[in-house]
Amino acid sequence: MTSNFLLDSASPVRQALIGFALASAGDVRVNLDPMFVTAARRAPGRKVALVSGGGAGHEPMHAAFVGVGGLDAACPGEIFTSPHNRQIFAASSAVALPGGVLHIVKNYTGDVINFRIAAERLAADGIEVATVLVDDDLGSEAAAATIGRRGTGATVVLEKILGAAADAGLDLAHLKRLGDGIVKHSRSLAVANVSHTSPDTGLAAFDVTPGDLEYGVGIHGETAAQTIVQPSLETLVARMIAELHEAVPDAVPDAANRYLLFVNGLGAITALELQHVLAEASRALVGNHDAEVVSAISGTYISALDMRGFSITLTAIDDEWLPFLFAEHETALPRPLPAAALLLDDALMFDEVVSLELPAVVVPDGYLSRLNGIITSRRLALNALDQKAGDGDMGSNLAQGMELAMRDYLIGADTLDADLARISQVFLNDVGGSSGPLFGLVFQDLSRMVGAAAARDGADDASVSRAVTAGLRSGLAAVQRVGGAVAEDRTMVDALAPAVAVGLDSLNEVAVRASIEGARHTSELIARRGRASYVGARAVGSPDPGAVAVAMILVSLLEHLTPAGETAIGSATGDLWLLIDALIAD
Ligand code: ADP
Ligand code: MG
Repeated sequence: MTSNFLLDSASPVRQALIGFALASAGDVRVNLDPMFVTAARRAPGRKVALVSGGGAGHEPMHAAFVGVGGLDAACPGEIFTSPHNRQIFAASSAVALPGGVLHIVKNYTGDVINFRIAAERLAADGIEVATVLVDDDLGSEAAAATIGRRGTGATVVLEKILGAAADAGLDLAHLKRLGDGIVKHSRSLAVANVSHTSPDTGLAAFDVTPGDLEYGVGIHGETAAQTIVQPSLETLVARMIAELHEAVPDAVPDAANRYLLFVNGLGAITALELQHVLAEASRALVGNHDAEVVSAISGTYISALDMRGFSITLTAIDDEWLPFLFAEHETALPRPLPAAALLLDDALMFDEVVSLELPAVVVPDGYLSRLNGIITSRRLALNALDQKAGDGDMGSNLAQGMELAMRDYLIGADTLDADLARISQVFLNDVGGSSGPLFGLVFQDLSRMVGAAAARDGADDASVSRAVTAGLRSGLAAVQRVGGAVAEDRTMVDALAPAVAVGLDSLNEVAVRASIEGARHTSELIARRGRASYVGARAVGSPDPGAVAVAMILVSLLEHLTPAGETAIGSATGDLWLLIDALIAD
């Protein structure tokens, strides 16, 4: 059994280089034996060639960093295996310039040995070589006194800055000094909660218990020194930033506490998550440590196959490096911008975060809070129904709408028509998905009709109930006008139309039962509208979430109009909820 998508090949890396070559024609030259990649063009002012390499599995590093403004050559080893000195020697000989060759080496024993042997061989050929060793990984601090820390994220920063510096014509000694300075002032820390897939077995390389996090993980499939329970992202990032901030030497006297912040994906994390990490890391640096973020990068640049996690690299910035950091290039290296160009208004950002918290108010017992309770307690069940036929978001969309509607709901219940108007506004304006605005239309008609009845007849129960029925009728028409669905298309129409069809002129249990039965019936239907049409018969057996939500709304209205205790119907709504919950169970 395998779960990876690799060709059956004796050398998966050589195979990958064929794909790489096809996609990079013109920019790079690929040598298959020994394996290395060289730049097809380089800046005319370059005096020293930059050569790096290391085991494969960290794509896009290093091969894709070859080109103008980046490396002159890269030597990929097999997956997680150092390149052979023959590769490094051949690649360096192929690209050497009169000013010599600078080797950029991540601190792993095999890499160090093979780059050293290659350097000896190059020296014997009269080629001058200097080496910058990258050892930034705080997760391996325990090894600092012996084999040294591992080299990870700082390599990307280093290759970006040195690429531009080499283009500017710096000599070997200057580049080496610059490189050593960047490494000295950089530290990285990585976490992961799912290991990578072993290319050999196609299975997870190591197990992480769900809910746990490997803290200080490396990039070669070794577990971390610590396993912790995964905290909230705020707590996690604050801890990582505190440890990094503490560890990065502030050696540049005039530029203390100023950093390049680099958030890197380890292979199986989304860009969205990386941006959350970056935003939070920036907030922690500025807010907790009074630091300045000179520039910020997020993306997947040094991966560990498909490990699900990220690293944060902090580099204390020397202003001398900035022109190189921001210089243009033609590779897959990051393209950092000055923080001023990020349009990041910290004050605004923090305010936004604070305002997302619901004010602690006494929530009145009106229709709005009733519906809010109903929707939020069934959010996950509605999502699960939507997952069977669509994308799993409908419950969350509705709950988010209710949260927004509740936000400025202050002490003292509003009238039904005011609550309905508030809900309709939020659903029409702010709730996404196909269903949000359609529900908004229904609530709009409900609020209009109920409002008119209240203005005409006061709070007369019978007249409000008639208005609700009329609102549902015209709401149904609006949904059909806009969405084009007819009966049996497996949509919310299938729960709305039966209630309207009962034809009674006030909302009662018969109409609501018809709606619930309509929602149940959708489990026998193949969708002809909405996203559910893509899955065909696969959704048969579970009801349409939009239809179920309509039935829930009708029960909530019936409950509101006939409070428990006042009439026999109060207890009947208990039965109605049993029917609804049977629909969403499983
Ligand atoms: P999306 O598919 O965009 O994620 P939601 O998850 O918010 O939308 O809502 C899905 C629900 O929308 C379905 O269960 C169905 O009841 C309803 N729906 C989809 N298309 C239509 C339509 N054309 N008319 C009426 N209801 C629809
Ligand atoms: Mg959906």
